[in-house]
Amino acid sequence: MLHMIVKNSEDFDFRLTVTDVLKGQGIDPERASSRLYEAAQAVIGEAEALVEPAAIYTVVDVIELDHQTVRFEAGQFVGSLVQKTVAGADQLYVAICTIGETLDNRVDQLMRENPVSAIALDGAGIAALRKVSQIIEALISRETGELGLSLGMRAQPGQEGWPIEQQREVFKLLPAREIGVRLTESCLMIPRKSVSFVIPRGDNLSNAAVPCDFCSKRSRCEWRKEKQIV
Ligand code: SF4
Repeated sequence: MLHMIVKNSEDFDFRLTVTDVLKGQGIDPERASSRLYEAAQAVIGEAEALVEPAAIYTVVDVIELDHQTVRFEAGQFVGSLVQKTVAGADQLYVAICTIGETLDNRVDQLMRENPVSAIALDGAGIAALRKVSQIIEALISRETGELGLSLGMRAQPGQEGWPIEQQREVFKLLPAREIGVRLTESCLMIPRKSVSFVIPRGDNLSNAAVPCDFCSKRSRCEWRKEKQIV
């Protein structure tokens, strides 16, 4: 199966801001104390030096959508969120993004010495992963636009209505080791700061909805309020 690997620094030419780092920690920048603000500011340089962004993605043809099951040549996804995501799609983009494990190793080390800085650095890593996935989404969006097609709602295994075990289907489609990502027995990705996602492609799709719109936790979820899912 054909796949694209993106891992040049030019492809991921982004800078982190204090706002990014605070949001990465789940903190509202408007309400951050000066101590947290300064801690966020202080880790930006180190975070930017430690991130090792990489991504891999492919496109698969949808063979059939039967109720909550979408079938493609190499496997299937099943779930209520799958149905909402895939309805009307002819193809699916399937992607994995990571920032590597060097930053997380530094967070673990720093946690023993300076927990406030460690948590800020962790937030910077989350913010960086968010930027990597946004860059890949933009690339996919540009590719789709050039073909005169449209994208639907992005979603991923592990969100409500899409069992985390289906990460195995994602990893069957993509040689994730080529970007240094592997799946544990319990379907967690290593490095920890990695994310997978699926975006449907078709003639007349809309990406106005997000998985939060269908999630039972939406009324109390801080992440949703910020629209900050990675
Ligand atoms: S509401 Fe919260 S838990 Fe539910 S999908 Fe959105 S971010 Fe995730």
